[in-house]
Amino acid sequence: MFKFHKYINNKSLLTVKINISKLILPSLEVHLTDHCNLNCKGCSHFSNISDEYFLDISEFERDLKELCGKFKIYRIILLGGEPLLHPKITEFVSICKNISPISQIEIVSNGILLPSLQKDKLDYIKNNANIILSKYPVTSDKFSQYLDLTDTANMQNKLIYIRNSFRKYINLNGNSNIKKEYSICIMKQCTTLFNGHLYNCPFALYVKYFNKKFNQNITVSQGIDIYKSNPKQILQYLNKPIETCKYCTFENDQNASFAWEQSKGLMEEWVLK
Ligand code: SF4
Ligand code: SF4
Repeated sequence: MFKFHKYINNKSLLTVKINISKLILPSLEVHLTDHCNLNCKGCSHFSNISDEYFLDISEFERDLKELCGKFKIYRIILLGGEPLLHPKITEFVSICKNISPISQIEIVSNGILLPSLQKDKLDYIKNNANIILSKYPVTSDKFSQYLDLTDTANMQNKLIYIRNSFRKYINLNGNSNIKKEYSICIMKQCTTLFNGHLYNCPFALYVKYFNKKFNQNITVSQGIDIYKSNPKQILQYLNKPIETCKYCTFENDQNASFAWEQSKGLMEEWVLK
């Protein structure tokens, strides 16, 4: 069943024909790069210890078409790593816009590359996506320049993540209560797309870099194949705990949080137990 829907998206008034019988995927996170130009201790996406990786544009286009055939997606979040490191950043935005015009497109960036981005590229991004800036102590002196460049200076704090502290959450013993950790976990809403599969959270996938660097064996999720599963199967999969949850620990613990600092690439930056 279809209906026409008028709404404001990324500053433009749009009218689109939407299939209202489609199920909803509230948000979708996609790494444009796994690596980063900052080196944060305990990065929850393991970008400080990842391989260099640039998302292939045709793979993304194919996967997004498949997902949009199955779901209405409200938010598409392009991140990393640092998404502005990808030379085809504007093409990713354009693909999102064309394939899923109802989606809010967001780019989560540390802002460091904004001053060196070509003006036409920056203008295109600003006109078609929301740039959400993460502010770190190490970038605080340049942050007002980044805000000016993204025209978000007057948008209060809602488009800024303040990242003064991080949290350890890995239980290397793998004996956490899966249901309990899943119930209190905030990352379970970060549905992640990679290589034709959806993952419950970035940890379940990118912990592969932790395993590689520190020779560990934390269960890396296989995700769910978006081509072989129907929308109901996908949502059922995304809304329940997975094996990897037994390696997380989100209980209150005074040793869990620490102030932002440069990573030394040590295992203890993530491990709480
Ligand atoms: S800027 Fe973000 S992605 Fe990059 S290392 Fe820091 S926390 Fe990780
Ligand atoms: S593995 Fe489970 S508990 Fe851990 S971050 Fe992912 S969804 Fe949360």
